[in-house]
Amino acid sequence: SVVTRFAPSPTGYLHVGGARTALYSWLYAKSQGGKFVLRIEDTDIERSTEEAKQAILDGMQWLGLDADVGPIYQTDRFDRYKEMVEQLISEGKAYKCFMPAEELDAIREQQKSNGEKPRYPGTWRDRTDHPENQPYVIRFKNPLDGKVVFDDHVRGRIEIANSELDDLVIMRSDGTPTYNFCVVIDDWDMGISHVVRGEDHINNTPRQINILQALGAPVPEYAHVSMILGDDGKKLSKRHGAVSVMQYRDDGYLPQAVLNYLVRLGWSHGDQEIFSVDEMIELFSLDSIGQSASAFNTDKLIWLNQHYIKTLPATEVAEHAKWHFDQQGIDYSNGPALSEVIAIQADRVKTLAELAAISHYFFADYKEFDEKAAKKHLRPVAREPLELVQAKLAELTDWNPENIQTVINQTAEELEVGMGKVGMPLRVAVTGGGNSPSLDVTLALISQATVVQRITKALE
Ligand code: GLU
Repeated sequence: SVVTRFAPSPTGYLHVGGARTALYSWLYAKSQGGKFVLRIEDTDIERSTEEAKQAILDGMQWLGLDADVGPIYQTDRFDRYKEMVEQLISEGKAYKCFMPAEELDAIREQQKSNGEKPRYPGTWRDRTDHPENQPYVIRFKNPLDGKVVFDDHVRGRIEIANSELDDLVIMRSDGTPTYNFCVVIDDWDMGISHVVRGEDHINNTPRQINILQALGAPVPEYAHVSMILGDDGKKLSKRHGAVSVMQYRDDGYLPQAVLNYLVRLGWSHGDQEIFSVDEMIELFSLDSIGQSASAFNTDKLIWLNQHYIKTLPATEVAEHAKWHFDQQGIDYSNGPALSEVIAIQADRVKTLAELAAISHYFFADYKEFDEKAAKKHLRPVAREPLELVQAKLAELTDWNPENIQTVINQTAEELEVGMGKVGMPLRVAVTGGGNSPSLDVTLALISQATVVQRITKALE
């Protein structure tokens, strides 16, 4: 059965590249009716932080990439790694290496100056004359001959001669297991069938396969996904703006838009651009991940965000918008339902942050007029149309868009002016500015009492 995993090291926030890897792993598990494991690789105690762990969990939760198993923390598993190191030693598949670091450094320097690839020369591989009270590391006995071959789902067949690989340190002199060893034990213990990860790990794979085989463990399948580049063709980094997934939340993106964006960074299905999560699950396969690096494209992300703000059910958008209204100090507990405001504002914004920014007047009196709009439509003349429309609006017994529209039309007719001469002053008086959705629906949401009272204030 299919089991995939996402195995971030908690040394920073969940970034775009990690989130895409997580999404691909998650999608593959879902598409196969398998399981998705979240494993926090926190063995680097110096660099791992609580905040980073939390940031990863928050990011995964925000994206909706729920784990079937985990989060599992590697730091909880040190005993297990130790046990397996000891087993390998007792089977003669790993050994103590007493070479001092300075000696190894000198050997490597020598190799480099000879134009050779620096490698540990296997000095202690077969020695039994172990010194006492001297620090040592444990090294894995890599096979000397033959080659490691695997068929990567993205990169195709990969072959590495064992002569290229030296004997990897699997336990440091302080007794802590090394990264590659922990990954191997975990992938095995957790029954991982498919490893999806960044191509920066591809050089680790042959070493990990050799250790798995020494343990008699099954070798999973691999898919190494390519890098993400910024829109300038350089490796994506902070310079390119938001790279933390939660920054996209803060900037007003919907998780659906980010997921849709991420899935298309390196994966395609014909020329289709819009994918619901269900469609992604249905259509995703590891073999259709592209080989070339994908370039980040902020315009496309914005386009997707607009699409989802417009097309998702307004109640769903509202759930995500709440955070932004809170951030901007808008109390939406009174007044119209957020979803009703969203229904009429959705096609006017690119982000949820913008949505909140242009929706204050639905929930609270504006503080001051938009200067330009007021100058154009309200000062000095609009007294007559505003007074008349106010009187008519105040008399309405049924406060709904049709009746409001009728009142605006009647006012313009009575005064023998164009609709704009009534509508624009009214808009500025009620919303404080010259931009809002159609007045009938806008006023209907704001409520009769508030509308009448704001016109009075504008007339002062
Ligand atoms: N912990 C590694 C990282 O964050 C990923 C290891 C793996 O997927 O095998 O880069």
